[in-house]
Amino acid sequence: MKAWIMKAPAAIHTRPLQLIDFPIREPAEDEIRLRVSTCGVCRTDLHVVEGELPLRHSPLIPGHQIVGIIDAVGSAVDEFAVGDRVGVAWLHRTCGKCKFCLDGNENLCDQPDFTGWTVDGGYAEYVIAAAKFTYKIPAAFDDVQAAPLLCAGIIGFRCLRLTGWTAVEWRGASLGIYGFGAAGHIAIQLARARGSDVYVCTRDRERHQALAEELGATWVGGASEKPPVQLDASIIFAPAGELVPVALDAVRKGGVVVLGGIHMSPIPSFNYSLIYGERMLRSVANNTREDGKDFLLEAASVPVRTHTQTFSFPETPEALIALKEDAIKGAGVIVV
Ligand SMILES: [Zn+2]
Ligand SMILES: [Zn+2]
Repeated sequence: MKAWIMKAPAAIHTRPLQLIDFPIREPAEDEIRLRVSTCGVCRTDLHVVEGELPLRHSPLIPGHQIVGIIDAVGSAVDEFAVGDRVGVAWLHRTCGKCKFCLDGNENLCDQPDFTGWTVDGGYAEYVIAAAKFTYKIPAAFDDVQAAPLLCAGIIGFRCLRLTGWTAVEWRGASLGIYGFGAAGHIAIQLARARGSDVYVCTRDRERHQALAEELGATWVGGASEKPPVQLDASIIFAPAGELVPVALDAVRKGGVVVLGGIHMSPIPSFNYSLIYGERMLRSVANNTREDGKDFLLEAASVPVRTHTQTFSFPETPEALIALKEDAIKGAGVIVV
């Protein structure tokens, strides 16, 4: 098969990805193999390719928002069959034995594998996945629309979940979103459907701010601009630590600021008064399978409409360069 691999991390502009012929392997007994149709590009792919996340596997095929058709199944797989359309996400598999797995917090597993980081991902014509960590894709979404749901969507959903709000509390609440790329443009659609007003702080007037307005933001401002009301909660999707004190300053007493990224630049020190008043700051790490399933159901019922910019398979490096330059409106998707 054709696959994009990286051997060692380097700045994306120096073209660390190479297109090569790569062997196709057979699935193990609990695995499936997909013929890849689409693969979303995620900021985490950039963190992997550029070395902000340590190299765990080399050569590595990145990519973890994969939609495809199953073309082979392992002998112990009973939930899927050849020909099924499925999605593969970041959480490739967990150990099932550690305290976190046993307590229902498999997103925090001590021995996890991640698609496109510790095992090969979807910047390729075929990919292997663990059947039990694979999702059915609702019929409402075509392959391009579905790809960004698998990380940007699921992680955005978990960020909303970690506000701790009930369905009633979402109604009329004021939610801030800092950084408005793939995850932000999905999270706003869920939050609006749940009855909240959304305040978006993001740079890039032309693409990100325009899309936020299109998707019904109550107010749109610059990355560190202060919204006109006190917010009940905020999510920071931008990997910019300097936004943490900015977001804390805009949230009410008892409010929560959720950090949605896997990597963030250092957080500057700030006065205790910013977090006093029982304000909370918490990160999101990965997702559980339950998050994924619950999200896909909600996304289909809203229905969420992903705004995508497609790239052909040979253009994969250009997709990552565009992401790095904040030049994608919505989510980038590679059509394999
Ligand atoms: Zn575990
Ligand atoms: Zn991702």
